[in-house]
Amino acid sequence: MKNAIKGGEFLIKSTDPNDVFIPENWSEEERMIAQMCDDFIHTEVIPVVERMDKMEDGLMPSLLEKAGELGMLGMSVPEELGGMGVDFKTSLLATERLAMGFSFSVAYGAHTGIGTLPLLYYGNEAQKQKYIPKLASGEWKAAYCLTEPGSGSDANGAKTRAKLSEDGKYYVLNGQKMWITNGGFANFFTVFAKIDDDDTLSAFLVEADSEGISLNPEEKKMGIKGSSTRQVFFNNVKVPVENLLSERKNGFKIALNILNIGRIKLAAGVMGASKQAMTTGIQYANEREQFGRAISKYGAIRYKIAEQAIRTYMVEAATYRAGQNIDDAIHALMDAGLSKAEATLKGIEQFAPECAILKVAGSEALDYVVDEALQIHGGMGYSAESSIERSYRDSRINRIFEGTNEINRLLTVDMILKRAMKGELDLMGPAMKVASELMSIPETPEVPEGTLGAEFQALEGFKKAVLMVAGSAVQKLMQTMAKEQEVLMNISDMAIQIYLAESGLLRVQQLINQKGEEAAKVQIAMVKTFVYDAADKINKYGKDALHSFAEGDELRMMMMGMKRFTKTEHFNPKEARQLIAQTLIDANQYCF
Ligand SMILES: Cc1cc2nc3c(=O)[nH]c(=O)nc-3n(C[C@H](O)[C@H](O)[C@H](O)COP(=O)(O)OP(=O)(O)OC[C@H]3O[C@@H](n4cnc5c(N)ncnc54)[C@H](O)[C@@H]3O)c2cc1C
Repeated sequence: MKNAIKGGEFLIKSTDPNDVFIPENWSEEERMIAQMCDDFIHTEVIPVVERMDKMEDGLMPSLLEKAGELGMLGMSVPEELGGMGVDFKTSLLATERLAMGFSFSVAYGAHTGIGTLPLLYYGNEAQKQKYIPKLASGEWKAAYCLTEPGSGSDANGAKTRAKLSEDGKYYVLNGQKMWITNGGFANFFTVFAKIDDDDTLSAFLVEADSEGISLNPEEKKMGIKGSSTRQVFFNNVKVPVENLLSERKNGFKIALNILNIGRIKLAAGVMGASKQAMTTGIQYANEREQFGRAISKYGAIRYKIAEQAIRTYMVEAATYRAGQNIDDAIHALMDAGLSKAEATLKGIEQFAPECAILKVAGSEALDYVVDEALQIHGGMGYSAESSIERSYRDSRINRIFEGTNEINRLLTVDMILKRAMKGELDLMGPAMKVASELMSIPETPEVPEGTLGAEFQALEGFKKAVLMVAGSAVQKLMQTMAKEQEVLMNISDMAIQIYLAESGLLRVQQLINQKGEEAAKVQIAMVKTFVYDAADKINKYGKDALHSFAEGDELRMMMMGMKRFTKTEHFNPKEARQLIAQTLIDANQYCF
C-alpha cells in the first residue's frame, strides 16, 4: 500500500491496482471480528427489533451494554483505555456488520462515533481516563449535541452560550439542542456552545445528571423508531472548567473533523444495510411465484437485483480503499512523530473529500437498494409486517444526518478546490493540459490490453471531462463560483462517479491478478456495467454544467471534448446484468 495517493488526488493521478486494499483480502482475524458482529446482531438484536421500535424501556441501553461486554463499543479505543484498538479499516468493517441491526446501528454509531470520538481524539489524559473506560464498556452511554432548532447545516450558527463563573471554576451553559441521538438515556454529552460573544464554537464534556438539564419527549419519526431522539435543554448548567474539551473556540473544528469520520463510517454502515435488504429481496423473489414461475426468473426483477449489487459493490470498493488509505496515512504520520490521536485526525482529514463522496454515494445506493427491494415484494413490501418496509423507512435518514447530501456534495468540490488554491493538489496543471488537448486534432488511441483495458481507458477520459469542466468553471466564474451551486453539484456528481468507477476497477483488476479472469467474471460484469452507465451520467452532468456557464465556439468545443471523453466501447448490459443476477439468485443472498 506504499504508493497510496493523497486525498483528492484520484482526479489527477492513477493508482496501481495492487496498491489498494480489497475486501476479498480481509485477514482471518478481521473476519472473526465481522463474524462476532454478525452473531451479535442475529442473536441479540434481530429477535427484539419489534420491541426496539416500540422503544421498550431500557432495551436499547441494555443492548449497548451487551455490545460493550463483547468489546464492540471500544473498537477504536486503545487497549490502555479499555478498548480493542483495531485499525481504522477494521472499525469500518465492524460498523458495516452492526448496521444490519436497524435502529441499534444508529444508537451504536452515535455512541461509538460522534459520542466518544471527540473526547478520544481531543481530550487531555485526565478527561480520557475519567470517561473513556466507562464509555468503552457501555457502563455510560454517549450523545453529541451540536444541532439546534435554528442551526443545522449552519452548525456554527448555534446560539447555546457558555459563561465563565465569577470564581473561574465552571462554565454556565444555557441553550437548546435538537435531534440528539441517544438523548433519552445518555449519561454523557459533548455539547457545542459559544463562550461569551465568541464567533466560533467551543466543546464541553457534560454529565447528563448535571442540574439544569431537561429533555423533551421522544421525537416521532418516519424510521429508526427504536433510536432515541430528543431535544436537550440546558438551563444554567454548571460545567467544571476542566471539562472544556481542547481549547476555547476549537469546537467547530472538532465538530467538522468528527463529522469526517462519521461520513465514512456511515458509508460502511449503509453498505451493511444494503447487503441485508438485498438478501431479503432476493429470497422473496425466489419464493414468490406469479404466472407460474418464481418472479426471480423475470428480466425486470433481475435488472433490479443486478443493479443493487453493482452499486453496493462499488461503494464497498471505494469505502475500504479509502479506509486503507487512511490507515496508511495514520501510520506515516505516527512514524513522523505524531501521537495516535493526532495522526488519526490528520490522516482522516487528508481524505475528507473522499469521506464526503462516500457519504453521498453510500446513502444514495442504499436508498436505491431498499426502494427496489421493496418493489420486488410488491404489496407485501408495503405491509408493516415485512422487514423490508422497516429497511425502507430506516434508510431515509442517511441522506440527512452527518451533513446533508447537498452539503456534502458542495463540500467535496469546495475541499478539492481549496487544496488546489493552496498548492496542495495540482489541479490546474492537468486541467490546462486537457484544455490544450481540446485545441489539437483528436487521436484515436488504441484500447489498452486486458479485460478491463477499455474501462481503464474510459476512466482516463472521465477524469479529463471533470478537469475540463472544473477548470473552465473556475476560470469563468471566478469569485462567484461558490454561489453557482448547480454547477458545483454537477462537478461533485462527476467526481463521485469517477471515484466509484476507479475504486471498482482497481478492486476487480486486483482480483483478476490474484485469481484469474474466470473466477472474477461476475465482478468483471459488475464493473463493466458500472463504467458503461457512469459514462452517460458523467456526460449529462458535464453537459448541464457547460451549458450553464459557457457559450458560442468555446461551448461547442468543450461539448465535443465531453463527447470524446465519455465515449465507451460496445457493451451488452443485458447480458452482464443477467449473469450478475443469476449468481445472486443461485446464492439466494448477496454474495460478493
Ligand atoms: C433522526 C436524527 C438524528 C440526528 N442526530 C443528531 C445528533 O445526534 N446530534 C446532532 O447534533 N444532530 C443530529 N441530527 C441533526 C442533523 O445532523 C441535521 O438534521 C442535519 O445536519 C440537517 O440540519 P437541519 O435539519 O437543520 O436542516 P437544514 O440545515 O435546515 O437544511 C434543510 C435543507 O436545506 C439544505 N441546505 C441547507 N443549507 C444549504 C446551503 N448552504 N446550500 C444548499 N442547501 C442547503 C439542506 O441540504 C436540506 O436539504 C439528527 C437529525 C435527525 C433527523
